[in-house]
Formats: sequence, C-alpha cells, structure tokens
Amino acid sequence: MTAKRMLLSFAHPDDETFGMGGVIAKYAHEGVEISLICSTQGDRGTIPPEFLERHGSVSAVRYAELECAAQKLGIQQLFRLGYSDSGMMGTPDNDHPDCLWQANEEEVVSKIVAVIRQVKPQIVVTFDAFGGYGHPDHIFMYRTTTKAFFAAGDAAQYPDAGPAYAPQKLYYMPAKKLLIGLGVIRSLIQRQNPRKIGANRDIDLIAILQNVPPTHTTIQVGKFLEIWDEANRCHASQWQQPPMRKWLRQLIYSGQSFVRVAPKTSRWGRRETDFFAEVQI
Ligand SMILES: [Zn+2]
Repeated sequence: MTAKRMLLSFAHPDDETFGMGGVIAKYAHEGVEISLICSTQGDRGTIPPEFLERHGSVSAVRYAELECAAQKLGIQQLFRLGYSDSGMMGTPDNDHPDCLWQANEEEVVSKIVAVIRQVKPQIVVTFDAFGGYGHPDHIFMYRTTTKAFFAAGDAAQYPDAGPAYAPQKLYYMPAKKLLIGLGVIRSLIQRQNPRKIGANRDIDLIAILQNVPPTHTTIQVGKFLEIWDEANRCHASQWQQPPMRKWLRQLIYSGQSFVRVAPKTSRWGRRETDFFAEVQI
C-alpha cells in the first residue's frame, strides 16, 4: 500500500512549528510521512547571546532548533535550501546577494520540483499570497512553491529535476484571523498603533487582517496542543510564550483553517476537515 505523504514548503526554521505545529503532529500521529523544505538558514534572526556561545553561529542555532522541533512533531525528512534570510520589505537586508529575495526564482522552483518528484507527496502546503504577515521570504516561497506544484507533473518542465510526478492537492496557510483580531484589540488597549507592531515596528496587523483569504478546510488539532508546545519550546531563541489562558489557547489554536488552492473548491460548499479527503492513495 502506498503511504500518505505531505510536503510543507516554508522559509525560516520555525515557520513549520509556529505556523502549523498542531496539524503536523496530528498527521504524523496518523502515520503520514511528512517532509519539510526550509529555504533559509534563519541567519538574520536576533537571538540571545547565550545561544550563540553554545552553537557558534545564528544559523547553527536555528538549524539545531529545527531538528529538535522536527523530532517532536514527527517530520521525517528535512530539505534545507540554505539561502540567507531577507528582511522585511524595503530594508537593506533584502539587497544582500545571498538572500532568498535576491535568488533566481527559476532556480528555487527547480529545487522545489526536485523535492516534489523525490518525495512524491499527495499534499503540498505553503504560505498564502500575503506570506501570512507579509514577510518577503514567505511571499517568495508562496510564489515558487505554487509554480513547482503545477510544474512537477509535466515531464517537459525541469527535465533535470527527476521524472514527472503530480501531487494532488495544494493548500495555503493563512494568518490566524482570531489571533490577529485579538492582537489588534490588545494593541488598542495598550495605546499602540496596530499597524506598527513588533520589536522592529514592522508588523501591520490591519494589513494582515485585510489580506486573510477565504478558507475551505479546517483541521482539528485540540489533542495535539501539548506536542505543539513542546516543539514551540525547541525554537527557544525565537519563542516567547504568549500570556494566554488555557481556554483561550484552546479556542484560538484547536482548529486551523487553510485555503484549498487545487483542486478548486467552492467557498460555500461543505467545509473539508481532512487534507487527504478525496485523495487517491
Ligand atoms: Zn518565517
């Protein structure tokens, strides 16, 4: 019998966990083979100095954290593309020649096609067009993964990337509307500008809310919040435990919604509750 396989295509070493750790844990628990493309080294992340002493470089810290989280969640294969992080739009980090934003798009697409053809996933998941919260690396992965998804099954495209294989379903992971909505309320209570949030004041919560696309699929992960949290803690250099009561956490995180991109489905039809619904194994 052929196995169920899922490929996640993200940018930074922590996107998988912070983005959809509960969903990964759930499917791994059900025996799905999960692979992850992590396209950057996470090397522009700011990390506390004690982490550097232990590992030597920021990317070594981030990769060690990724290995830890992958083990907790049950991700079986990691594909690191090794690009440098880009900064937010309009910052000097985006001009760096090694950063993902400056990478040749075709080259990245061909790398993703090669992974799809090697892993043969039925399901592919990546960011939405806004990259969740607008990060250029996320947007780049949305663009290249979408192209790769539709090209992988065509033997005439990227012939050097292995024999053609067409995955069946493509999903986008949007920002969590409820979480962002609560963030807006909190910023207003604290008299902060919801358009300028975060340590660098470069997160615009209003723009994020405006760009959340309609979703079609909701996966229930309530039973996996503990494992998700363990994986969150693996990313210790980046993780800040939000001060949140347990019932609120359950409310926000126990169901996660996705955009079903291919095959197309009606927004108004019955909601899907499983990525593998209608999949031929
Ligand atoms: Zn990221």
